[in-house]
Parts: sequence; C-alpha cells; structure tokens
Amino acid sequence: MSQISVTVDGKQLSVEADQRPTHIFADNKEIVVCKINGVLKDLWTDLSEGDVVEGVSISSADGLAVLRHSTAHVMAQAVQEVYANTRLGIGPPIKDGFYYDFDPENTFNPDDLTKIESAMRKIIKEGQRFRRRVTTEAEALRELAHEPYKCELIGIKGPAGEEASVEVGGSELTIYDNLGRDGNPVWSDLCRGPHLPSTKHIPAFKLMRTAAAYWRGSEKNPMLQRIYGTAWPSQDELNAYLELLAEAEKRDHRRLGTELDLFSFPEEIGSGLAVFHPKGGIVRRAMEDYSRIRHEEEGYEFVYSPHITKAALFETSGHLQWYADGMYPPMILDEEYNADGTVKRAGQQYYMKPMNCPFHNLIYKSRGRSYRELPLRLFEFGTVYRYEKSGVLHGITRARGFTQDDAHIYCTKEQMVGELDSLLTFVLNLLRDYGLNDFYLELSTKNDEKFVGEDSDWEEATEALRKAATAQNLELVLDEGGAAFYGPKISVQAKDAIGRTWQMSTIQVDFQLPQRFELEFSATDGTRQRPVMIHRALFGSIERFFGVLTEHYSGAFPPWLAPVQAIGIPVADTFSEYLGDVIKQMRKAGIRAELDASDDRMQKKVRNAQMQKIPFMVIAGEEDQKAGAVSFRYRNGEQKNGIPIADAIAEIKKVVQERTQV
Ligand SMILES: [Zn+2]
Ligand SMILES: [Zn+2]
Repeated sequence: MSQISVTVDGKQLSVEADQRPTHIFADNKEIVVCKINGVLKDLWTDLSEGDVVEGVSISSADGLAVLRHSTAHVMAQAVQEVYANTRLGIGPPIKDGFYYDFDPENTFNPDDLTKIESAMRKIIKEGQRFRRRVTTEAEALRELAHEPYKCELIGIKGPAGEEASVEVGGSELTIYDNLGRDGNPVWSDLCRGPHLPSTKHIPAFKLMRTAAAYWRGSEKNPMLQRIYGTAWPSQDELNAYLELLAEAEKRDHRRLGTELDLFSFPEEIGSGLAVFHPKGGIVRRAMEDYSRIRHEEEGYEFVYSPHITKAALFETSGHLQWYADGMYPPMILDEEYNADGTVKRAGQQYYMKPMNCPFHNLIYKSRGRSYRELPLRLFEFGTVYRYEKSGVLHGITRARGFTQDDAHIYCTKEQMVGELDSLLTFVLNLLRDYGLNDFYLELSTKNDEKFVGEDSDWEEATEALRKAATAQNLELVLDEGGAAFYGPKISVQAKDAIGRTWQMSTIQVDFQLPQRFELEFSATDGTRQRPVMIHRALFGSIERFFGVLTEHYSGAFPPWLAPVQAIGIPVADTFSEYLGDVIKQMRKAGIRAELDASDDRMQKKVRNAQMQKIPFMVIAGEEDQKAGAVSFRYRNGEQKNGIPIADAIAEIKKVVQERTQV
C-alpha cells in the first residue's frame, strides 16, 4: 500500500493511503468528526496527499452539533421503524438539542416518545455506521419517491433556508446509509452530513416534547409533527441540562408574572403586547426611577418622541429600506375621496416606530450645534413596536411592543475613545446595581463585504471599543465580521443566577445615520463637521430586563425592587390594631408595607407571604405589643424577635437604600 503525507492536528504524518481519520483518531474517543482542509467531514472520509486534518471533539460547538444532528437522524430511523407510514421532513441541530419534523399517520402522544426512545436505544446499541453516498438528483428522486418532503428539498435550487441546509445545499447531493451488523444498509436518509462515525457514539440523549410545525415554516404548507430532543457527550451532562431546565421552568417569568400578579398578555390586545399590573408597575417604576437618576448623574438629557411618524422619516433613516419586515404595516391617514368613492387626494402613510434613533436625530438637528455642546447625550424611555413573528414571541423578554432605555450620544471623533470607555464602565456598573455580576463582552468587527464609512474610521472606532473592553478585565469574545454595516459594536452578555447567558446592553457606533440625516456641528476652527453617533440601550428594553431579573431572582426581588417590601402578620386578630399602626409608620417612612387583614389564620398568612416572596414579614403578638416591638421573619425562614419599631424601620430602609438582597 502506498503512503501519503498528511497533516494531523498540526503534525506531519505519513500514513497508508487507505487510512481514514477514523483510524488515525481511533485511540481518542472524544474525536467524533474532523475538519479536512477546514471543512467539517465524516471520520470515514478518504484522505488525499497533502490534506490538513483536525480532530473535532464531541464537546466542541461543531462536535455537539454533529452529535445532535446524528441523534435526530437516529430518531427519524426509529420513528419509521415504529410507525412505518411516517414521512420525513427535516432534522437540524438546534441550541442544546435537535428536532425532526414528521408527517405521521396519527398525531404523536407522550407514550409514543417512550416507544421511539427505546427503538433509538436499540439502534445506538447496534453501532450502525453512517455511510455517505453521493447521488444525483434523478437517482435521489427515484430512491426517495415515497418521501415527498425530501423530494421537494431535492428540487430546491440555491439556498434552501438555514434549517433545510442539513439535508441539501452542499456542492453534492448525498444520502447517508445506516449499516447494520452485516454491513448492509438498514435505513437511508437524504442528508448533507457529516455524522458521528457510528450510532454507538451517542452517549446520552432524551426526547423532550412534540409540537406542531408547518413544513418549511409557512402556514400555506401542511402541518407536520415536530419532536424535540437533546443529546450530550455524557449522562452527567444530560442530567445537569435536565436539572437546569427544571430550574428554569420554576423561574419562568411568564409563570411568575401570573403567580406574583405582575403583568399579563390579554387576548383582546394581541400577542406580544403586555399590560403591567399594579405590582409589576411598582417593580418597573423602581427600575426606571433608579435608571433615570443614574443617567442624570452621567450627564444625559431626557427627551420624548411620539409613537408614530410619517413614512418619510424612516425613508431618511433607511429603516423602510432594510427593516420594513420588522415594522407594523402603515396606516393611511388624511385620504380624501370623491362622491363616487374614488380617491381624490392620496393619504399620508404613518408608521409605528420600531426605533427611536431618527427622532433623536431630529432633536439634534432642530438647531445649529457647536462643539461646545458635545458630547450631547439624549435619553428616552422610548416605546417601540416591532412586528416579531409569533413563533419567536416569548413573554416580556421577546414582545411586539416594548420600551427601550435608549440613548444616543453625539460626539466628536476625538471624544469617541473617552466616551466609549466611560460609557462601558457606566453600563456595567449600572447592571451590577441591579444585581447582575457575571459578564463577558463581545466585540463585533467590520464585515469587509458590507459596510459604509471610511476604513480609518472603522479602525479607530473598533480600536476604541477594544480598548474600552480590555480595560474592564472581562472576557472578550471576538465576533469577527459580525458588525452591522453601519458600525462596530460591543455587547454585554450577562450570566444569571443559574448560569444562563442573556445579551444585555449594546454599544453601537454608527457612521451611517449622521450622514443620512446630514448632522453637523461647528468645530473650534469654524468648519462644519459630522459628529460620531453612538447608540446604546442598557437594559435592551425595560420589559426584557424585567423578565431577566424576574428569572434571575426567581421572583424574590431584592427589597428595593420588591412590589411589597414588608407585610404585617398579626399572631391573632387582637394585635391587628397595634400592627396596623406599625405598618402605617413604615409607610410614612417610605416603605411599601401592607397589613394582611384577611380572615386567614396566621400560618396561612405566612404561607401567602412566602408565595408572594415578600422580603420582610412583620409579625406582632402579645410580647411584641407590650415591648413596643415587632418580630421579623425573613424569606429563608429565620426569625428575629423583639425588634423596637424604630430599628425595624431602619433595617428595612437600609437594605432598600443600599439595594442589597435579603
Ligand atoms: Zn443526517
Ligand atoms: Zn438608536
């Protein structure tokens, strides 16, 4: 056998020509797929002279995606074993798992998932090899004549959409055969691959749930049945993931929103549009008030702008050109008609605003600006409306109407570096004040194919952002080429109490809008110059941040945000009057305190207060009354007795003022 020379993980090797990566990596069970000359390939791929091969571990992002897609593949095989007359849709990997769409004879029920899982376990145990086979369109259509959805994918020329790209869209059309113990195919699927070397490389998986899904995402197409599953490199990791899901479920802001009476989404208003109830209103106002104070201290000026505007404004800003899909359709106003109903004078198109920036630019432009006024920082709690697809709506963290804590900073080029640096510090410190402490930063840099502005400006702004980010001593992830065409950006990613990452603030430099709006200022030398514009939203939106904090705290807000900070619970009815007076004093001192004057027994009142996650239960019985004192019961169940009223008030006021958790 002749030898070929290949590079494996950076080392030059001479191997026999029929050696494949699966042999080369045979001793390393972690390697389940590989890159050959930079392209992700099966470990069974033939090698050629000069190939550069890199092993890809099952725990890497690519490895996990291949594991999950391969598990989806096994699930489809199992489904067709158990329910022979099921037609196949597509089966891509997704975050933390995978799905596969099916057209079954009967709707799946939870018992079916158990049956499918056990069929999958059998396939995994058999260690069926995934074998790649290149085919032609005509052959594939013949072979898959019984799979109408797959045939439709074969017919798609060009990009098939992100999700369908697991089956087609490569340079070659391929079918994967699963080989049984005797080496003969037992099942085949149109698929682009790559896959794990064999089914026994699936260490741990679970099927999660079923859902209805339209074929290729369009309601004009048939409704299919989707099965979601998850797969992990070890049973321990699967268990940890399932625990995290259970914890996330307990903390789900949509559920807590109802339980704690914070907000709701009435059918009558429409999906993605929330109303905040009094208790949610208190939390929200506390969030906004503190933000406002901090922004004022940092030199921001507060502005207001309307919710609707003529189309022309969004033509100037470019939103109608590249963002129209995300906007609510226009209203036609002031149209005039003839007697016969025909239009006499065309109306004006008005749009709900999806962003506040154009309005702030008009405020900037309302008069001449001098360098002396810069940096000019305009802030607005600006409510915007975006027509999000109903499938992506998720409580108040992804809604159709929401209020951004939006600011636009106009500064000179010379001021930009300092401004970005102090801005990032301000943003992080403010997030810390709300109780988030674990961050990393992401820097999105220029996409060389698609950008406006001068290279030198981009370089300067990107360097300024990089410098500001580095100064924070936080992990910095580079999103190379990921910037929007109008400027580089830093985004702050925050981890919550159970380790989930949320994208919070973004700081976005914009070279485009100042041009489109012809913004200017007169410089020291009297020339007219263009300011740099920085967009930044710190919470993203108040609603979204509210949702994140609700989940982060699991509804047990720190006292400064809690809707009710203290609840009075008399040991018996006879102490109601005394305790009622204490509560009154607390309210006078600015504490959000209430007396539970219901007919419930004390134990029930304590349970209710626990359910409502109220930070302080203020209890009074005979001894308390005699001593002019109260007892505290905290969220963790601990109790402190005989606290003089003035001390009780001082203790609550202190934690509120310091914004500490109790
Ligand atoms: Zn596949
Ligand atoms: Zn903006």
